[in-house]
Amino acid sequence: MISTNQLLRIVTWNFFRNLSNMKMKSFTFVVFYICFHIHQTQAELHCHCGGNKPNPFCSSDTCTVEGKGQCYHHIQKMPESGNIYESYGCFTEGTLRSSPFVCKPSTSEYLVQTCCNDEDYCNGEPIFLPPPETTVPEKSGLTSSHQATIISSVAGILLILVVVIFVLVKRRSTIKDPLSSSGSNGSSLSIKEGYVTDNKVSSEFDDWSSGSGAGQPLLVQRTIARQVQLQEVIGKGRYGEVYRGKWRGDENVAVKKFSSRDERSWFREAEIYQTVMLRHENVLGFIAADNKDVGTWTELWLLTEYHENGSLFDYLERTQVDQAGLFKLSISITSGLEHLHMEFLGTQAKPPIAHRDLKSKNILVKKNGECAIADLGLAVRHDSQTDTIDIPLNNKVGTIRYMAPEVLDETLNMRHFDSFKRADIYSLGLVFWEIARRADVGGQALEYELPYFDAVPNDPSVEDMRAVVCGKKQRPTAYPLWEQNDCLRGVYKIMCECWYENCSARLTALRVKKALKKLQDEEGIKIV
Ligand code: ADP
Ligand code: MG
Repeated sequence: MISTNQLLRIVTWNFFRNLSNMKMKSFTFVVFYICFHIHQTQAELHCHCGGNKPNPFCSSDTCTVEGKGQCYHHIQKMPESGNIYESYGCFTEGTLRSSPFVCKPSTSEYLVQTCCNDEDYCNGEPIFLPPPETTVPEKSGLTSSHQATIISSVAGILLILVVVIFVLVKRRSTIKDPLSSSGSNGSSLSIKEGYVTDNKVSSEFDDWSSGSGAGQPLLVQRTIARQVQLQEVIGKGRYGEVYRGKWRGDENVAVKKFSSRDERSWFREAEIYQTVMLRHENVLGFIAADNKDVGTWTELWLLTEYHENGSLFDYLERTQVDQAGLFKLSISITSGLEHLHMEFLGTQAKPPIAHRDLKSKNILVKKNGECAIADLGLAVRHDSQTDTIDIPLNNKVGTIRYMAPEVLDETLNMRHFDSFKRADIYSLGLVFWEIARRADVGGQALEYELPYFDAVPNDPSVEDMRAVVCGKKQRPTAYPLWEQNDCLRGVYKIMCECWYENCSARLTALRVKKALKKLQDEEGIKIV
């Protein structure tokens, strides 16, 4: 009788030797990889250690790991000499965290790497592969028909296993960690100097992450997330619900929960929030992302600072604003957008970011009356060195009502990053209009309404919006009340400069901010 390990070794060897098809090879080792990863945790795991060349990490022919450590088995074929080197050993949890690719199936036809933790010494026996000329069957005394039977039955069993295992462990094994990925612009946590937060969890988080340099942001984020108890639902969006949570029993945080179906969106939003130098008082403060197994599914959490006033949409529905409030809201939103759009060069480089879904529901109102731009799930970043845009891996492109004319008629030049910024400015103009309606002019304010409320049906289609915005070239109107007020007349003029049809004629965020500040000074409005 041959042992499981011998059988495995024979199959590995034969696939390695006989399969010229890269895809099949990769597939086979994906199968091996998955099979060996079913049981993720084990108190203590013993592995074979050694290889057919000196392995400096083995003090004897066995090694031991704890927790989520794994046994590994690497086979490498030297392209020139054809020599095959095998090595066996242990990967500690720490090694796997810092080098997550050492257990991934190799894409090179010269390297096979497998890891396992399902049983002690699961990484094969330290009997080394023969040189390429010698065949294993001859050595083990198996005939070629035996070999074929064994290979086909094992392959068949593996195939069935794959289907079952994929279904069972799909989410566990495929959910990536946005916190350990480097992202196109380096996703290490970075705290902007001078960023002030009145939120305890954020400041504690800042201390941890800045104090420890690169540190272990993943662990810090996990630790925080796992100290949060969900309270009530505070919002509902595209991907799921947003909750108020209590961190360590007393500090409020917001928890945006994604279903595991929307794993990409969760990953993307966490990745964007961790763009170097992103933090700003007018951009929602990111705290942590966590993916945790809850029985048979995975919960994906994104923790941010909590703002009890809720979204600008909710705030305007229930509150009127005075002129100082109007400027405070509008200037702070513009500052947040200017910060997103801006590129910083140098060691702490920040890529320019376009939001692509700016609207009153994606802007939060802070206690101090300023705003914070939220929901960065559809944002895109620009890499000016390669002039590339990292378009997110989903096909949603924003909210139809707020789409710029060039988005509606699909003439937006996707290869030009400024196009995305200009589309944001169009949406910003619509948000100003929503705020202006709620401004108290001589004791009167208009009711809250969404932009184009009088021109399109509820939940308008792209065709509805296109007919109004591109066809009739209609824009939200000014009200007679505004004509009599210098301040609102001025704000309306700025809005109009944000929603020109010709996107290159629109103001930039910096220009909008300057225009608003100038108007505020001219009107002698003091913001406290
Ligand atoms: P989605 O991507 O699903 O649209 P959002 O991030 O826009 O989710 O959040 C949906 C709603 O949840 C917001 O409109 C707002 O009302 C509420 N919300 C989100 N984040 C916070 C927060 N940090 N503080 C308070 N309310 C929030
Ligand atoms: Mg949203």
